[in-house]
Amino acid sequence: MNSPMKRRDFLKTAAAVGAGTIAGSAELLAEAGRLGAHSAIRPVVIASSNGLKATAKAMEIIRAGGDALDAVIAGVNIVEDDPTDMSVGYGGLPNEDGVVELDSSVMHGPTGRGGAVASLRNIKNPSKVARLVMERTDHVLIVGEGALRFAKAHGFKEEDLLTDAAREVWLKWKENSSTKDDWLPPHDMDTRDIGESLKEFFRTTGTINCNGLDLRGNISGVTTTSGLAFKIPGRVGDSPILGAGLYVDNTVGAAGSTGRGEANLLSCSSVMIVEYMRAGKSPEEACLQACKRIAEQTKMKRLLDDNGRPNFNVNFYAINKKGEYGGASIWSGSQYAVNTGEAESRRMECAYLYKRAER
Ligand code: ASP
Repeated sequence: MNSPMKRRDFLKTAAAVGAGTIAGSAELLAEAGRLGAHSAIRPVVIASSNGLKATAKAMEIIRAGGDALDAVIAGVNIVEDDPTDMSVGYGGLPNEDGVVELDSSVMHGPTGRGGAVASLRNIKNPSKVARLVMERTDHVLIVGEGALRFAKAHGFKEEDLLTDAAREVWLKWKENSSTKDDWLPPHDMDTRDIGESLKEFFRTTGTINCNGLDLRGNISGVTTTSGLAFKIPGRVGDSPILGAGLYVDNTVGAAGSTGRGEANLLSCSSVMIVEYMRAGKSPEEACLQACKRIAEQTKMKRLLDDNGRPNFNVNFYAINKKGEYGGASIWSGSQYAVNTGEAESRRMECAYLYKRAER
């Protein structure tokens, strides 16, 4: 049997892991040069299209010598705190009872660890709580009431996350909700006409995924969301599920998603994208391959258009160890945000499987 790690050893290890947050970038580049890795490290931060500020913030931290996980979490905290982004954190759209429930996951490449929370109420920065699950528990995912109690034990303050703007959108949905919810009557594979909500091509969704490669060549990622608007309480999407809404392998790259979480949960696309990259595909090709796989796996008629194509969208964002990046969606028109440290954050078009106008 292994003897338990002594506390002193543990502290030494923790200090070594945390060292990345204090060294300066000049020092890091010198270190990389000594290792012959200097020319190979091209830092990059990618995010969903709502991540212009997040990618800029994350790159600022990376260029100052910070660890990629510190960087991407600080980036998405801006969006979690922003009441005008109704898909993430404070101001996110609520569940069908009018209560905001948040999901988030983080992965830290260099230590091979991850953490996540789901259905977390009243705490506006679920990404910080996900990180604490990773660092201060022997678990990976904590949900609901337990996640809230865990956050409070660590000093997070409860607050009402429902803004007036989000409440008004919810109220409108509620007042018109007879056929616009997620409860389905009995149906079979050939049932097409099952209610308004699934006919709406782009039902209100949103999330931020943000992945970064730092000056040490280490990769980390985070995904954080209020999930599908007006979901059944307790519904968990893809965002907090490692392998689905986020996956990081420090030797290969990172990938994450936004869009219809149910489709991604059934295909575990983020881990697939990392594996496609390991097999040699570029980030964009790997993301597109994941979209194809979802299209192939979608068989219920209610989820298909007249041409047999998914009637929903999923978007993927990926980076690799070389600093290459890319994104892809099932349907055209999606964008991603990227910052390579040379210029301001910018939005780029995602590759796509199907052109939206053709529907
Ligand atoms: N993927 C998120 C979820 O299913 C929602 C979204 O990105 O729009 O919870």
